[in-house]
Amino acid sequence: MDESEPAAAPATLEQVAGQRLNLLSGLAAPLYIVSACVTEGFFRWFMITMAIFLIGTGLIRRRATSMAEAPVSLAACAVTNAVWGWLTPQVPVLATAALIISLIYVAWIMPQTYARGAVVVMPLISLAAQLAAGVTARLAMQVLGLALTNMILGALLLAIRNAMERRIAEDTRALDDSIARLRVATRTDALTGVANRRRLDEILALKWENARESGSTLGAIMVDIDYFKLYNDRYGHRGGDLCLKRVAAALAAGVRDTDVVARYGGEEFVVVVPGADLPSTAQIAERLRRCIAGLGEEHLAAPAGRVSVSLGAASAVPAIGGTAEDLIEQADRGLYHAKRDGRDRVGLAERPPAPAGDVSAGRQRSVDHAGQ
Ligand code: GH3
Ligand code: MG
Ligand code: MG
Repeated sequence: MDESEPAAAPATLEQVAGQRLNLLSGLAAPLYIVSACVTEGFFRWFMITMAIFLIGTGLIRRRATSMAEAPVSLAACAVTNAVWGWLTPQVPVLATAALIISLIYVAWIMPQTYARGAVVVMPLISLAAQLAAGVTARLAMQVLGLALTNMILGALLLAIRNAMERRIAEDTRALDDSIARLRVATRTDALTGVANRRRLDEILALKWENARESGSTLGAIMVDIDYFKLYNDRYGHRGGDLCLKRVAAALAAGVRDTDVVARYGGEEFVVVVPGADLPSTAQIAERLRRCIAGLGEEHLAAPAGRVSVSLGAASAVPAIGGTAEDLIEQADRGLYHAKRDGRDRVGLAERPPAPAGDVSAGRQRSVDHAGQ
């Protein structure tokens, strides 16, 4: 398909109904014309009027814009009923047959605002036309009764339509809610409530692309809970789950709204920090380390006696090259260094570049905070 071509909007229920009605009109009108040729008297008039009505409304519906369509179609219905009521004053059943078709049309297809009034006005027009044509006293009551019956029929059709539309609206709302819930569920880690791995991949790809276009930096921090196997062994798997939840919540609370915390897997998390260069990313990582240490979560099986995390910080300038996977790999290498150097610290993949003249800077790949 040509990309520049705007996608056609799906037809609404009303448009589909209108198209069906046009088709029906197109098929039925010739039948009425043929019937008019082979019948006589009132029946001939009935057939001619119906053919005119169908062709008239069919053409109008096809030519008119949707806004103009409703009043014009209503006017066509009103004229048809007036003419038919006037032509057949002594045979109210025939006028009623035309009226019923009009009522089905207005109650079922017209916009709601017109439909409500039309189901009352149409029978009144038909009634007035028949009375004006001079029905006999004997038929007057019958004509009146049929007009009232038709109003009730119109109201009934409208009620059915309203109920159907309400039901469809409710079902659509429920479906939208389910889709929204499902979308959240597919992006969220069930245990901790932060973004899951799938969402992380999406976010990383998106942020990488944004940073590449704007020429900005993108930081990533890999977080791993220290001695977590021992935590599970000591406090049980359920205790481990609760610990994971608290760590995830502390990480989420410790970053800006524009940063994203995701569970990478097991007891590992990744924090994506758009716009952060390496020193800023390392600073944020250090702040998060302190946040977790500040929880004071007991971990008697760990050397420090409390829960701690090790973090690997990395940053990239996507416009220069590389991939989001490379960035995560760098953060992972930083985490490896933090673990190797004693845990409860921030590690970097490579030595940070030394400022001119400072030979001591970057000597260490990770900063020791254990026991702070
Ligand atoms: P290190 O300090 O080197 O990171 O050691 P560690 O014990 O934290 O690392 P290791 O990889 O040996 O163990 C990770 C543990 O995390 C093992 C696994 O049972 C536990 N774990 C992974 N996912 C979950 C989870 O969803 N709930 C719980 N309770 N434990 C989990
Ligand atoms: Mg791990
Ligand atoms: Mg661990």
